Amino acid sequence: MGKCTFTRSAERVRAAGATVSGGVNSNFRMGVAPTPLVFERGEGAYLLDIDGNRLIDYYLALGPMVLGHSPRDVVEAAKRQLDIGLLYGGQSELEYLAAAKVVEMVPCAERVRFAGSGTEAVQLALRLARAVTGRSTVIKFEGHYHGWVDSVLWSTSTPQDQLGPEDAPVKHAASAGQDLPAGQNLELMSWNRAEPLLARLAKGDVAAVIMEATMCNSGGIFAAPGYLEAVREACTRHGTILIFDEVITGFRIGPGGAQQRLGVTPDLATFAKAIANGFTVAAVAGRAEVMDRLVDGAIMHGGTYNAQPAAMAAAIATMDRLSKPGAHDGMERQGTKLMRGIEAAFAEAGMPVYVGGYPQIFTVNLGVTGKPSNYRGLAKVDKAAYRKFTTALLGHGVRALERGAWFLSTEHDEKVVDRTLDAVRAAIAEVA
Ligand code: PLP
Repeated sequence: MGKCTFTRSAERVRAAGATVSGGVNSNFRMGVAPTPLVFERGEGAYLLDIDGNRLIDYYLALGPMVLGHSPRDVVEAAKRQLDIGLLYGGQSELEYLAAAKVVEMVPCAERVRFAGSGTEAVQLALRLARAVTGRSTVIKFEGHYHGWVDSVLWSTSTPQDQLGPEDAPVKHAASAGQDLPAGQNLELMSWNRAEPLLARLAKGDVAAVIMEATMCNSGGIFAAPGYLEAVREACTRHGTILIFDEVITGFRIGPGGAQQRLGVTPDLATFAKAIANGFTVAAVAGRAEVMDRLVDGAIMHGGTYNAQPAAMAAAIATMDRLSKPGAHDGMERQGTKLMRGIEAAFAEAGMPVYVGGYPQIFTVNLGVTGKPSNYRGLAKVDKAAYRKFTTALLGHGVRALERGAWFLSTEHDEKVVDRTLDAVRAAIAEVA
């Protein structure tokens, strides 16, 4: 098979710069080598671009497409609703059914509120935590990403030489133009170290601790044994709201997300992405006692498009599928095979690598030996070499994120994974 080329995409993105700034509508879609791509359609594990390439897709839109591109049941459910009503500015039975499904599937979910994006869900969870506790301080961790608004966009991908001491990490705004006072009540800590966190919580003035219970945005790193349990216990003891940001892990790594898989239940959790397989749905779910503080309207939660009916129909269809026994088993098998295959391919080429995370969402950290325990353990990641690899891989028809994450769908079967591993070996041979 000939190498894929991307000249039409490159030309189109460049020309589109005349109307769309930079030719892309999210920073996460820019800076892609050899060019950001323009697509015509998606089918299962594949994306078809305007150069005529049929690419195996591991971006999966950065997580949502857990059932693959254009699954018939989800699409048909949304279409049925599109024919009868778009947006009511009021309630529909669909949102109640979708909420009941979240409550059925997610351990912490006694109540649910829907939102438009993961970022908005995080904003609501933090506002709830502050209102309920009457406290301002929120603790977040280096390398964890919770959306792009000023209040949480801190120290998501700080250069390693600017982190400062681990016991007093330096907080970095992650964007130019960020309103710095918006982050003044956000305290930054290094993740996966129980002692300093427990000591901080013991002061009794922390509204919330927010974290990715498994760090998927950086490295694919698991919490140390006992860490999550210790944080859970300390939050309960000191009246702090524990928030798991499950925007990536929710519905993707199992029916009940990371909290079910890890056996630790937060007070609140945020969801988006895989909950509706590509439709704009996000959610906050949590304990009734906390969530029902929304009932009297004193805590503001808005959003014109919240619980849009067709998106709710898609969410129900997606969750219906993901709640079936064994729904995640294929991804578990194929993802495991892919993780081990990638590890072996780099090892054969004498290139150290740490492949971490779940079979449904894992990260390839080139240059890292051993098992990192937090963001600081990723100091040796060779971003330039990995970028060369993903560029070469794209030439062989496989699209994987340059920052190392690989998302799987139920449509990534053995044949797709075998083809991927052939491409991985060919790409490594080109760049090693
Ligand atoms: N939280 C986590 C863990 C995420 O990975 C993301 C997005 O990647 C967000 C929040 C923000 O979600 P959205 O992009 O839907 O605003």
